[in-house]
Amino acid sequence: MDLVEKALDYIKTNDVKFIRFQFVDILGAPKNVAYPVKPGEKGLEELREILTEGIHFDGSSIKGFVPIEHSDMLLKPDLSTLSVLPWRPTEKSVARVICDVYTPEGKPFEGDPRSCLKKIMNQLKEDLNGEYFVGPEPEFFLVKPDPHNPHRMIPADIGGYFDMEPLDDAPDIRRDIVLALENLGFHVEASHHEVAPGQHEVDFKFDNALKTADSVVTFKTTIKMIAKKYGLMATFMPKPFYGMNGNGMHCHQSVWLDGKPSFYDENGPYQLSETCLSYIAGILEHAKAIVAITNPTVNSYKRLVPGYEAPVNIAWANKNRSAIIRVPAIRGKGTRIEFRAPDPSCNPYLAFTVMLAAGLDGIKKKLTPPEPVERNIFTMSDKEKKELGIESVPSNLKEALEELENDPVLKKALGDHIYEQFMEIKTAEWDSFRTSVTDWEIKTYLRIL
Ligand code: GLN
Ligand code: MG
Ligand code: MG
Ligand code: MG
Repeated sequence: MDLVEKALDYIKTNDVKFIRFQFVDILGAPKNVAYPVKPGEKGLEELREILTEGIHFDGSSIKGFVPIEHSDMLLKPDLSTLSVLPWRPTEKSVARVICDVYTPEGKPFEGDPRSCLKKIMNQLKEDLNGEYFVGPEPEFFLVKPDPHNPHRMIPADIGGYFDMEPLDDAPDIRRDIVLALENLGFHVEASHHEVAPGQHEVDFKFDNALKTADSVVTFKTTIKMIAKKYGLMATFMPKPFYGMNGNGMHCHQSVWLDGKPSFYDENGPYQLSETCLSYIAGILEHAKAIVAITNPTVNSYKRLVPGYEAPVNIAWANKNRSAIIRVPAIRGKGTRIEFRAPDPSCNPYLAFTVMLAAGLDGIKKKLTPPEPVERNIFTMSDKEKKELGIESVPSNLKEALEELENDPVLKKALGDHIYEQFMEIKTAEWDSFRTSVTDWEIKTYLRIL
């Protein structure tokens, strides 16, 4: 059965009344337009056409898309992603399908983050017959209004790492989240309370980068919707609370060549292949610019500070979690690297694009990484770090944007449209932050100056 017939079958079996054509804007925010399925032969014909051709929409109001002059865009559904939304009614149900954005001329739109990721994945396929896999670990907080100050949100429980009820107050919420994700086709590997009060993690199995990016978007909406059912709010903000761990989205990743995992070599240093070492070297080389995309908010840089299990230092290690890249102990076909910088405020399509672009650059140039650093870098003095050549990630969004501006490899991977729009939006975001007066300033200066 072809994909359209299969989709029609799925729509009928699941009593689907609404199909949401979904995509993301340049910041990774999910957007959708719902199409109501109509009864009868005529309805079926219209549906078949829409599933095949796509649906027109006005792209001019979407962040980072197009100016008003050419606003007619087309959403072409990737029918393999059609899935019923478990938080919507089961009768006359709602399904969503993830779409690629096309121009009216029928070309992939260069401002579409999904197309951007597809492009670099195709390049990997063409150049090296390679495939790119990512397994993310998104963390989030469940928060509720502070009873003493309703304008403030506070963590919804007092649990810590791997805690159980009654300290962990969200086992039912995580249970519902896992069940909903499974209904959406996720292979959930684990769920647990995280280090900070109110903080949680749900891990799902790695897949090719496109599927994983789609999954991250679905994941975030699912979690927010289930939390809402319980009267709570879920937030993926990188550092919602000063003095507590932030929300990371560590990305485990590997490249397969000729259909086989390529990061393991029994006889290589640390049993890692040259491809793996060059991939690591590529990520390290571009790390300062990568974070502009993987850590794209003002708040992201409040997480990338010492002491909270988030990385600061541009180094790699086998065990040490203070380095930006860690290679988990597993060897054989599961050999992979963990890039620990990303946070879940990123657009996953663009984040995976720049990580792959950097790693691929390393592989193509046969770069070699420095020696791994197995000591806790957080306790090293600046002098020691300098001697070992260990640099730090940018300390704020502005610095990261400047690094991106000077990185032709990453700029090329993003393409002119996305690069320019991203820079414009993020520079404005930085300026808005830079000129606002924060609570910290009022607390520190108002009375004494
Ligand atoms: N929350 C940490 C981070 O920001 C990770 C902590 C963990 O997974 N143990 O990266
Ligand atoms: Mg984890
Ligand atoms: Mg974690
Ligand atoms: Mg991790």
